[in-house]
Amino acid sequence: MQLEIVTIGDELLLGFTIDTNGAHLARELAQVGITVSRRTSVGDGASEIAAAVREALDRSGAVITTGGLGPTSDDMTKPAIAGIFGRAMRLDDTIVERLRLRWKSRGWPGELPESNKQQAQIPEGATILENQHGSAPGIWLEDERGRWVAMLPGVPREMRGMLADVLLPRLVALVDGVPTVVASRTIRTTGISESALSDRIRNLAELDFEGLSLAYLPGWEGVDLRLTSSGLTAEDAAARFARVGGALTAAAADHVYGGGSDDLATTVLDALREARQTIAVAESCTGGMLGMRLTAIAGSSDVVLGGVIAYHNDVKVQQLGVRPQTLQDHGAVSEETAREMAGGARALLGSSVGVGITGIAGPGGGTPDKPVGTVCVAVDLEGDVRSFRASMVGDRHEIRQRGAQAALNLVRRMMAGMA
Ligand code: ATP
Repeated sequence: MQLEIVTIGDELLLGFTIDTNGAHLARELAQVGITVSRRTSVGDGASEIAAAVREALDRSGAVITTGGLGPTSDDMTKPAIAGIFGRAMRLDDTIVERLRLRWKSRGWPGELPESNKQQAQIPEGATILENQHGSAPGIWLEDERGRWVAMLPGVPREMRGMLADVLLPRLVALVDGVPTVVASRTIRTTGISESALSDRIRNLAELDFEGLSLAYLPGWEGVDLRLTSSGLTAEDAAARFARVGGALTAAAADHVYGGGSDDLATTVLDALREARQTIAVAESCTGGMLGMRLTAIAGSSDVVLGGVIAYHNDVKVQQLGVRPQTLQDHGAVSEETAREMAGGARALLGSSVGVGITGIAGPGGGTPDKPVGTVCVAVDLEGDVRSFRASMVGDRHEIRQRGAQAALNLVRRMMAGMA
């Protein structure tokens, strides 16, 4: 089954409200094998709503709307859509009574305001979708050709509740045969560019995607490869994910650090724990981000000993034992300094692994030799020291995030004997 979503509200167009309803609906519908073919957002005007829903109905015959069901005069969804179906509005006494009882049971003063009765105006021939999470009931309107519109409230908590309680079960009953799903599988890579990854995958001449689509999702953590299936049973999709995902994992090889929403910090902590190692960090440009990443993982205290934010050169020298001569010869941002920072963290805190990070996060401080984004990372694993210098892209925050991620990746690679 395919359908369209129309989210309604001026606030959506102004950018003050982010359309989380559309995203939630799309994800939930995919789980039961319903494809969203288009999402549209429109303002509160009756004619805009009517035009958007009419066009969506013409294309797909099935539409879910959110928003504009409330008691205020800008809530025009119901009459606008009733007009498309040629239905008049009528007051539903049962709903008025339910609203009245709700008003009283909450202890609100006086009688139910007239404007609330607006919520009891229902298009003729509509089915009421019970709302146990708020006052505005949802509406299901269907014509003789089987084309339908389901109207849900805009308030996300109410919309989500009604979708789960009433609408999804109704839609699942409409889907014929063996249920199919829209499913995804993510392979997480880091330390390789999107283009280099795509070259590797393109070179897999014999790779058959078996109808799965592949998306490259680059970010500061690395590049995620996301495979998506649609129109397959859950079992069939899982088998294809295993085959195609296996080939992609082999192509990305040592750059793969996990799947799904795995965090590289968790991967690294697990590897350290298994090898009975402990870690200490010395951070300059990342100012504690690496320590934060590691200690954010519950149970990390058996592996993480601590760290030093060695921002000033004096701290690098006095706390970590970086030689003044090294700073003078190579500068604070250099592989040499990072290596001595890593060794210094190990010595100071008594860990088996030490990490040093130093760089220029910007926006100022860059030179032609060492432009903004230059980050040097070193890892000292029981005296075996490896380091690299990299050019990170992005703003100050992103450069720091990328620096911490690159440091974690060097620890991962060394623990796996890949560096
Ligand atoms: P109410 O009964 O409160 O008037 P309603 O069905 O009329 O509900 P709206 O008035 O359109 O819904 O929206 C109510 C609130 O819900 C908005 O202020 C906004 O915060 C949130 N909201 C509306 N649409 C969306 C959306 N598409 N995504 C996320 N939040 C939304």
